[in-house]
Amino acid sequence: MRLSSFFMPTLKETPTEAQIVSHRLMLRAGMIRQTSAGIYAWLPLGHRVLKKIEQIVREEQNAAGAQELLMPTIQSADLWRESGRYDDYGKEMLRITDRHDRDMLFGPTNEEMITDIFRTFVKSYRQLPLNLYHIQWKFRDEIRPRFGIMRGREFLMKDAYSFDIDPASARRSYQKMFLAYLRTFARLGLKAIPMRADTGPIGGDLSHEFIILAETGESGVFCHKDWMDLDVLKNAPGFDDDLQPFFDATTAIYAATDEKHDAANCPVGEADLVSARGIEVGHIFNFGTKYSKPMNAVVAGPNGESIPVEMGSYGIGVSRLMGAIIEASHDDNGIIWPDSVAPFNVGLINLKVGDSETDRVCLDLYGKLQAAGLDVAYDDRDERPGAKFADMDLIGVPWQLVVGPRGLKSGVVELKRRATGVKEELSVDAALAKLTA
Ligand code: ATP
Ligand code: MG
Repeated sequence: MRLSSFFMPTLKETPTEAQIVSHRLMLRAGMIRQTSAGIYAWLPLGHRVLKKIEQIVREEQNAAGAQELLMPTIQSADLWRESGRYDDYGKEMLRITDRHDRDMLFGPTNEEMITDIFRTFVKSYRQLPLNLYHIQWKFRDEIRPRFGIMRGREFLMKDAYSFDIDPASARRSYQKMFLAYLRTFARLGLKAIPMRADTGPIGGDLSHEFIILAETGESGVFCHKDWMDLDVLKNAPGFDDDLQPFFDATTAIYAATDEKHDAANCPVGEADLVSARGIEVGHIFNFGTKYSKPMNAVVAGPNGESIPVEMGSYGIGVSRLMGAIIEASHDDNGIIWPDSVAPFNVGLINLKVGDSETDRVCLDLYGKLQAAGLDVAYDDRDERPGAKFADMDLIGVPWQLVVGPRGLKSGVVELKRRATGVKEELSVDAALAKLTA
């Protein structure tokens, strides 16, 4: 992408309406535009990152054996009347009436709809276990949308739903998602701690929230200090292995959200207990037959008997994750994207547009880096070098390759790593080899 034609409306001034750093940086980098309270348009730079986060989430769901489908955003109220949640959900649900006076709603979640799809097509225990997911926009009419896309009204969620014949099998499905979540967040460069959590309006008994510790987080959380430098995936099993020992070992290290934490009965002594704030990026539930019973989602068991299926649901806040990543990874100059989700892998800075040798080398590098499969932001704008460096730092491109006439005279370009600030001078060929390695 040539920055001279890229639609990236960066801001020089720090927006005053934004209270936390991720929101400020997303606005300054021209990633999002609020269109109504808590509702955002994703501009090209933000959209690129959103798609990369989504893809990592998708790959790990697929690796865990979940299957992707796509359900609509608009749902019929009838299904929600069957489960009893149409009235329970309250004002967060955006209710809509169509031209035939039918009650519809913009889905805040999809338990009812997936249960309806399941009961229509799945009739035998032989078709289980099954896990179906989608990545789709949700609407919740939050009373106080804030912090940009962190607490939006419209937001992108990955939600998966598991179906099993009995509680033991359902626990295994839960553990697979537990592992998939740890792997997903690690690939996003995040340290997410699974915490015992309240099940809230979704219901059920077994539940974990995945929390990124951050001062700007909305949840109060408590955990054993061992979590602080734990490499949780170090001895992680594969999805086909027995997951129980890993699950038991991981959940044995205390971590709980403030709704679940009971100071009087906490197993961890005060000296070892960390009290912090955190951002909820994922939430998994096992809720047994809470929906299958009222909605009559039953399958025939081995002896032909009718068995209500055991279910779980598993959410990841795909759009919220972008804010969480920025909260966890930025400095005074801007965002520091992990390589896995960066909008561009390499920023190529032309220090003197119009200088024929500089232009030639830049174009050559631009072509070769792209041919190697890298996303390149080529800054070919007629701007001062300082402005170019500042923008590249602001938008957080992990590698910056700086090409100018002075360096080229002695045959070198400069390669900078955004995360460390470390710069090195090397030949054009060596820079190319390093970036494409
Ligand atoms: P919260 O406690 O933050 O309101 P929740 O418990 O209501 O979230 P879930 O129903 O567990 O949310 O939804 C799954 C995931 O979707 C959450 O873990 C979170 O990452 C994300 N999410 C929920 N609400 C929002 C929102 N308003 N804006 C952005 N992401 C959200
Ligand atoms: Mg939750």
